[in-house]
Amino acid sequence: MKLNPALLLLTALSVGTLFAQNSPLDPATESLSHSIFKQLVEINTTDSIGSVTSAAEAMQKRLLDAGFPASDLTLAGPNARKMNLVARYRGTPGGALKPILIICHLDVVEAPQAEWATNPFKLVEKDGFFYGRGTQDMKDSDAILVTNFIRLKKQGFVPSRDFILALTADEEGGKSNGVDWLLTNKPELVKADAVLNPDSGGIDSEAGKPVVMVLEATEKLYGDFELSTQNPGGHSSLPTRDSAIYQLTDALSRLNKYVFPFELNAVTRAYFTQMAAINKASGDTQTAADMLAILNTPPDPTALARLEATPRYNATVRTTCIATMLSAGQAPNALPQFANANVNCRILPGHTQEETRQTLIKVLADSGIKVQYKDDAGTLFDKGTERVSPAPPPLRADIFDPLHKVMAEMYPGLPILPQMETGASDSVYTIAAGIPSYGINGVAIDTNDERAHARDENVNILSFDRGVDFYYRYLQALGGK
Ligand SMILES: [Zn+2]
Repeated sequence: MKLNPALLLLTALSVGTLFAQNSPLDPATESLSHSIFKQLVEINTTDSIGSVTSAAEAMQKRLLDAGFPASDLTLAGPNARKMNLVARYRGTPGGALKPILIICHLDVVEAPQAEWATNPFKLVEKDGFFYGRGTQDMKDSDAILVTNFIRLKKQGFVPSRDFILALTADEEGGKSNGVDWLLTNKPELVKADAVLNPDSGGIDSEAGKPVVMVLEATEKLYGDFELSTQNPGGHSSLPTRDSAIYQLTDALSRLNKYVFPFELNAVTRAYFTQMAAINKASGDTQTAADMLAILNTPPDPTALARLEATPRYNATVRTTCIATMLSAGQAPNALPQFANANVNCRILPGHTQEETRQTLIKVLADSGIKVQYKDDAGTLFDKGTERVSPAPPPLRADIFDPLHKVMAEMYPGLPILPQMETGASDSVYTIAAGIPSYGINGVAIDTNDERAHARDENVNILSFDRGVDFYYRYLQALGGK
């Protein structure tokens, strides 16, 4: 039997060290990671009054002091407050493998002091937790990556490929998204053939006990569409059958009945396979069997019908479009001269916004209704973009074999669940740039206590320490021979 180094370390710690119980970290690493975390939380990086640049500069100095050459630490960005840091950890010279890019946003959402029990821009330790804005989203991961870059560098570790860490601006809001800016303005700095984004994915725990590791392997594409119809109107005492309102709501009824085609991809197949095992283990054999039955071609219709009743499963197997806003009419006593609706779509990878707009036109089946694409700023266009969330690549061995190895060491038997996010993260930019992007994070958060963007945001200290240990092992495994 091969001894597990993690177990050896845990045993060593339990017999008389002073730091946190079961922390997998040696005192020097624990102190380094906590001090970087504290420094980051205490630099305000909100869009309103904060400075991402200050945080980027602080991390640049840390890495410089640890021996990274200045030429591998680039500050770049569109303005004085929104500079990004790109740090390159050089691999074996002349290595055949292309770099892996790790994206971590430095900005945080606003944190009104009045709503908080503690100062959100002080890292406060209380009852085994660190409190402060960004402790979950995502200064924990920023600190984890910077710590491990420093630690591995000091140990003389040379990976088989370059690692690039991009600490960036404006993921949460603001006009200067750092990932977008770097891909557009400094592509040579962030050129990579895979992206890791610790902002999505992570370990779900219950009362501190890890239950499942979720990793994001693809995202749906977001798309809003404006439906509009016009009518000359008239006096409401003399109604006609062509009311703008009924014209629109009739068409929306057709949309409500329409079901987008069933479609699986590499990620959602892996998701249902793993979920079937999880359901079987928990005793829900019907759901387990249904999940396996929809993997057949064609999918079993009865099994599919049962699964579709759950919104998350339905959203996983097809594009969805739903009317979310309506406005119509100009007076209580007049026939409406206009009726508008917003239809919000979440589009499966491999399909474009324009293709979805064409489907809407067909389903609404009324040439009197104009269907326009609406961008994030609310501007209307007669055509959707050809932007596409590319079909996800297979779960690549160079990314996932090391992950499975590390997880087997740290959390033997914990299910690993690949997911297609129905929301969006900065991976939306790297995916659009054609780089396979994976949300991988080793910090465990209790599912009933998620506080990202919320008041009194916190992270369990032991969970943070294990997150440091996770990326320490994972980076070594990724960069191994
Ligand atoms: Zn985030």
